[in-house]
Amino acid sequence: MTQLVARLILAMLILPVSACLFVLGFAVVVSRRPQAGTIALLYAGLYLFVACYWVLLWRSLVRWTPERIVKTILAGVVAVVAAAIAGGFLMMTVFGRSDVEVAMLIGGSVVPVIWVLATVIIWRETPTERAERLAKIGREAVSCPICGYNMTGLSEARCPECGTKFTLDQLIVSQPKADTHVLPEG
Ligand SMILES: [Zn+2]
Repeated sequence: MTQLVARLILAMLILPVSACLFVLGFAVVVSRRPQAGTIALLYAGLYLFVACYWVLLWRSLVRWTPERIVKTILAGVVAVVAAAIAGGFLMMTVFGRSDVEVAMLIGGSVVPVIWVLATVIIWRETPTERAERLAKIGREAVSCPICGYNMTGLSEARCPECGTKFTLDQLIVSQPKADTHVLPEG
């Protein structure tokens, strides 16, 4: 199993695992009707777990710029506020004021979902960052040997512009060598 496959499996498991933990926590901690404070505590623990799990899983693949870190934290705050509003709304409309706990249970479960979805967008590599990364490893561009089309980032060795199919070794051999331009003969 490659690292990426392992990551993807772990990524898919985060929400089911969190849900199981929460239910388990409930079974252990709560024997009678849950109090609002207990629910808040359980959710705080759950959010901490989800945040650590998710950050540890992806940390080596995310470029941690200050802007990205701030946005990640803000997304958590926004998720909590959104869940509080949703819970409050449910309390006013569906459950009534006496059912604070039910509204908390439902509203609170939305927080990890919102935050995880937000990180998918926030942590994504921007086109500029991708270009920088490729430039750093010395592969600014792979071009079609026939028509010169920029084939960087394609997942197959077929030029979409002129339709010519290549083998990977043909593409590599055909790329202009950087040092032939830098060092003129004589
Ligand atoms: Zn071509």
